[in-house]
Amino acid sequence: MKVLSAIAEFKQARQEAVGSVGFVPTMGYLHEGHLCLVRRARADNETVVVSIFVNPTQFGPAEDFAQYPRDTERDLALLGKEGVDLVFMPTPEDMYPEGFSSWVDVEKVTDRLEGAFRPGHFRGVATVVAKLFNIVQPTRAYFGQKDAQQAVVIKKMVADLNMNLEVVLVPTEREPDGLAMSSRNVYLSPEERQAALALWKSLKLAEQLWSQGERDAEKVRQQMMSLIQKEPLANIGYVSIAHPETLEELIDMGQSALVSLAVRIGKTRLIDNITLEGN
Ligand code: AMP
Repeated sequence: MKVLSAIAEFKQARQEAVGSVGFVPTMGYLHEGHLCLVRRARADNETVVVSIFVNPTQFGPAEDFAQYPRDTERDLALLGKEGVDLVFMPTPEDMYPEGFSSWVDVEKVTDRLEGAFRPGHFRGVATVVAKLFNIVQPTRAYFGQKDAQQAVVIKKMVADLNMNLEVVLVPTEREPDGLAMSSRNVYLSPEERQAALALWKSLKLAEQLWSQGERDAEKVRQQMMSLIQKEPLANIGYVSIAHPETLEELIDMGQSALVSLAVRIGKTRLIDNITLEGN
């Protein structure tokens, strides 16, 4: 496994890569969720590239960029075991040199949900992912369903800008009790870790209501909110029932719905979602 930081050196190594290239962009502090993406990339491609870059431009000024957990040595050991070929770990100075002034803005689907609560977040995400795609030139890029809106934004960017790659979505990997794996789970105290189950419980409740035939989005939302509000450590950011592609809020859940939520547990902001479809 080659580990490269300099953009020019990475591009050189990329030139020498054979066959299809599967790419998994990450911010490091890897967990089983990331490794599911890596395994999928490994199964589908001759060459696997993983990037580790905590992207400063997607964090708001009051967010956790400085505190975001980092453990490169452990990450590299995990990636080595998965048979990754190339790891790209650029520095913020190389990715955003002085005078950097070009940004990718995906409109509309970024107005809601995470976009509404984190102004500028998706501009940072789309820009860094576009840069990484240009550097890595992947055949396929792998993203987690855990960040459902991010997946919608990236797919839209790839389609709108005619980028030459396939976007593959991978289901959310969860702890045995249902909590979605996230690098930010490390922030949770044991008490908060218990409280964090409110997200999954509320999603399971939505699934149950859906399977009983409920299609009134407001009713489902209200029941989810009251379940979460019973947890004293939980503070709701949003509970949304939206169209899986346009992300517009639904009144009637119809054939399929993306149920997503953001909840603060103590100081930690967690997100999760499920897609409901069929009967
Ligand atoms: P991050 O390092 O948080 O930026 O995540 C890198 C990639 O891993 C993104 O495509 C995420 O959606 C994906 N990811 C994060 N957590 C999970 C999870 N629990 N299951 C599946 N994919 C995940």
